[in-house]
Amino acid sequence: MNGAIHHVTAISGEARRTIDFYTRVLGLRLVKKTVDFDEPSIGHLYFGNAAGSPGSLITFFPIEHAAEGRLGVGDVQETVFAVPEASLGYWTHRFLEKSVANKGLSRRFGERAIAFKDLDGTDLALVGMRGVEGAPGPVGGEVPAEHAIRGLHGVSLLLEEAGPTARILTEVFGYEEVGAEETTRRFRRPGATFGAVVDIRAVGGFLVPRPGRGSVHHVAFRAVDDAAQAAMATKVAEEHELEPTEPKDRRYFRSVYFREPGHLLFEIATDEPGFDVDEAPDRLGEVLQIPPFLEARREEIAADLPDLAD
Ligand code: ZN
Repeated sequence: MNGAIHHVTAISGEARRTIDFYTRVLGLRLVKKTVDFDEPSIGHLYFGNAAGSPGSLITFFPIEHAAEGRLGVGDVQETVFAVPEASLGYWTHRFLEKSVANKGLSRRFGERAIAFKDLDGTDLALVGMRGVEGAPGPVGGEVPAEHAIRGLHGVSLLLEEAGPTARILTEVFGYEEVGAEETTRRFRRPGATFGAVVDIRAVGGFLVPRPGRGSVHHVAFRAVDDAAQAAMATKVAEEHELEPTEPKDRRYFRSVYFREPGHLLFEIATDEPGFDVDEAPDRLGEVLQIPPFLEARREEIAADLPDLAD
């Protein structure tokens, strides 16, 4: 589904701790261990459902000694996962048992939610979503399949003003404004189930963000193929006078990036080819994957990333 969220990428601290939290506590599947293709001394971890489907993915650049980030205007405030509506009781108990910092049950736009943080302070939430029971989740983890996270629900953005970013969502990515609650305006991509919601909180004159552990680096939106990506990039350039990059080969998808008017980094990522291009579907995430253009540097890269290499 063009325009729905493909993945969210954040900065974390120690890689092992990130892997432990997202796979064991949240029950997601580690679908890829690789490196930041632009800065291969930094690892890149992808978590999602069993296949690593677009719309199920949260990814991290683990930087062991990164300073803690500080939320500010022009940041993703919260990344939200979808679980079946009936599973929130299970998650309330699980967070207590695993000592996950959380705010308990609340209600947002008619759905029940639990806001919580990972160990690096990344703001996350689970929302109980109707009709997702049959969607594929991760397999074989500690979380029973019936209660597993099925994918992304969406993100909330903290912005100086809502209008300019709202235009990108509606005119480039096909979202519609569907409601408002207090200072939050909700946008939804019709026809999409996962990654379909973007909430905008306009706050004006708030703090300047400081990127670091717990900060979101960028949000990627889906393009079904290269032609759809090119059409969106053209709109970004010609109708919004922004500067999208050329498409970059990220091996598991192809990406165009642009800085949107609210200062967030947005990406347009293709659904193709997916995570089984270099590993069998039942072996995803087991071995550190080095892209072909960095293959000659494999030993040096692996030596720098001991937590990912073994
Ligand atoms: Zn990305």
